[in-house]
Amino acid sequence: MYDLIIRQARLVDDSLCDIAVSRGKIAAIGRLAGPAARSLDLAGRRYLSAGWIDGHVHCFAESPIYHDEPDAVGVAGGVTTVVDAGSAGADDIARFRQLASEARTEVRALLNISRIGLATQHELAELDDIDLQLARQAIARHLGFIVGLKARLSGSVVGDNGIAPLRLAKALQQSAGGLPLMVHVGNTPPDLDDIAALLEKGDILTHCYNGKPNRILDQQARLRRSVLAMLERGALLDVGHGGASFSFEVARAAFEQGIYPHTISSDIYCRNRIAGPVYSLAHVLSKFLALGMPLPRLIDCVTANAAAALGLAGKGRLEVGADADFTLFDISPAKGVLHDCEGASLPAAQSLRPLAAIVAGVVWPTQEGKADHVFDL
Ligand SMILES: [Zn+2]
Repeated sequence: MYDLIIRQARLVDDSLCDIAVSRGKIAAIGRLAGPAARSLDLAGRRYLSAGWIDGHVHCFAESPIYHDEPDAVGVAGGVTTVVDAGSAGADDIARFRQLASEARTEVRALLNISRIGLATQHELAELDDIDLQLARQAIARHLGFIVGLKARLSGSVVGDNGIAPLRLAKALQQSAGGLPLMVHVGNTPPDLDDIAALLEKGDILTHCYNGKPNRILDQQARLRRSVLAMLERGALLDVGHGGASFSFEVARAAFEQGIYPHTISSDIYCRNRIAGPVYSLAHVLSKFLALGMPLPRLIDCVTANAAAALGLAGKGRLEVGADADFTLFDISPAKGVLHDCEGASLPAAQSLRPLAAIVAGVVWPTQEGKADHVFDL
């Protein structure tokens, strides 16, 4: 007998299917008749995808500046896995892991290459804080929780160090078995051309549609040659919306040149979650829907693509044997406008409304989902 059967789920390609769960894994997919301890009938009206993965959040509750609770940025918004992008370095990754283990949401971390993590906003201004030996020890001790590295390469973070912290990040990556490296681009220096030149296959550039002078476009709004070359080498683009790193104008110009994000993440933490302009991963996804991204492509960015980019085995795919992590949602007509970080707005067409996160077969309805009695199991 299955632990759970979800019946008549609508997939993003608009097909309907049933999914059975046993011991936290997907046990069967198709038209299923077998008995189950519990069943959830979506009646073809609600969407189901693999659990959403937000690959760039800040959810270390004890971090002084950018902090939040994993479940507030996770299951409360239909997100089953969150990846904290560098809130903690070697000094406090153990404490972060301990706190994260209490969450309903699956939490992973990108280790900040600075041992102090985001204890300050200029964590890479002292090269002594980039202690490769200490970082390697932390990775060895917490591998599995640590899924990659994070380096913030903006002028306000690196001080006078220019591109040097990125060279150290690449050296650390190489000596730590080639873990994914996420690099943040912000204010200059360093210039994005110098950052892009060092990024290789699998490296992730976050804040990819930022509207600052370090945007991915040149003066003529064409994709920078350095970024094109980086993409040709297999480096990846991540959205990392955040409070100051997303421009509709840049995203639109990139789309017109066929440059879409590989992964869509929120860079959410308590302040931009409560006061905006991020609010939730679903809200960020709704912006990409309004920009014209088709639903299957959109959902790939927070499922299969995110799992592949961050090496999350068992996640991001609806297939037998994978983790039974799902996001249930609907798409409703929306009124009003959506805002980027540059003062521009866009009419909202539709909004994605998460109804529940299912993590290893356990159903966590969202606020909207609780009003929807289908989740009363
Ligand atoms: Zn961030």
